[in-house]
Amino acid sequence: MPVQCSSCARNRAVLKRPKTGHSLCKECFFFAFEEEVHQTIVTAELFKPGERVGIAASGGKDSTVLAHVMKVLNERYSYGLELMLLSVDEGITGYRDDSLETVKRNQEQYELPLKIVSYEELYGWTMDAIVKQVGLKNNCTFCGVFRRQALDRGAIMLEVDKICTGHNADDVAETVLMNILRGDIARLRRCTAISTASEGDGVVPRCKPLKYAYEKEIVLYAYFKKLDYFSTECIYSPNAYRGYARTFLKDLESIRPSSIMDVIHSGENLSVRDGVKMPVQGTCSRCGYISSQALCKACVLLEGLNRGLPKLGIGKHHRLHGKLLSQEPLTEKEEKKLKAPEF
Ligand code: SF4
Ligand code: ZN
Repeated sequence: MPVQCSSCARNRAVLKRPKTGHSLCKECFFFAFEEEVHQTIVTAELFKPGERVGIAASGGKDSTVLAHVMKVLNERYSYGLELMLLSVDEGITGYRDDSLETVKRNQEQYELPLKIVSYEELYGWTMDAIVKQVGLKNNCTFCGVFRRQALDRGAIMLEVDKICTGHNADDVAETVLMNILRGDIARLRRCTAISTASEGDGVVPRCKPLKYAYEKEIVLYAYFKKLDYFSTECIYSPNAYRGYARTFLKDLESIRPSSIMDVIHSGENLSVRDGVKMPVQGTCSRCGYISSQALCKACVLLEGLNRGLPKLGIGKHHRLHGKLLSQEPLTEKEEKKLKAPEF
């Protein structure tokens, strides 16, 4: 027997909301989903009228839903925001080139300006070339560090006040778990924040309007709205550690659907005891980006690539930063250690 929508009691329900268990029709689900994002934005005061906001757009489901919902809410509630799309081209043939085509279509569909910054223009290296040199073990470290900076650089070119990213509740919960598993207290403290202020010159404030949206609901929203998004995984994606955290969380979710929110709440309520040593934020002596070491991670990784010593930025080689800065040659032993990539 067809189930009636529990909200409007008029239409036939087409889905059961993973978050609440309510049976809803399409229209009532759209409205509930959008309202929750609106509530998140209002409660956390994510934006101010007149702000220019860059939406980090990869062409994937999260950022496509984010762009769509931000446009809808900006109009429905007169946020007064100037929205634009900001994409990073990592230079991954067969993946990013195709997903960027989706972003270009989204640009037309949503009538938003689009800026694409590429690793090649910023760093002189594409991910294809990086993987050739470093192999498939640490590639995501390079990619993640470069992306963070690339988004900031693109945001500065676009002169936006803020970047919003498509991180959803599942992503945040996964990151909480990963930081616990790694014992990374500094990141653990930061990762549940819905917005971050600028930490220095060259760092644009960021926020996550989808922080409380379940991935399953984002998929349903994109599906029923027939949004144009790209669903293929990155061809270099093993990123094993996150994968395990993800699988673990999905297993928990299948037994207890609130696990995702529970993990986020746990992360939000953890506090760091006085006296725990935290990294002191300074700036990179080479590029001026924030860094707790003499050189920022991107500069060290790049130096490693350019010198053919890809392991320079992997692991802890901080004591070599002085040598790198003064262009002092490394000893044979030091070079040997940093050279051989583990294929
Ligand atoms: Fe980059 Fe790794 Fe993500 Fe691929 S999976 S886009 S290499 S971070
Ligand atoms: Zn730097």
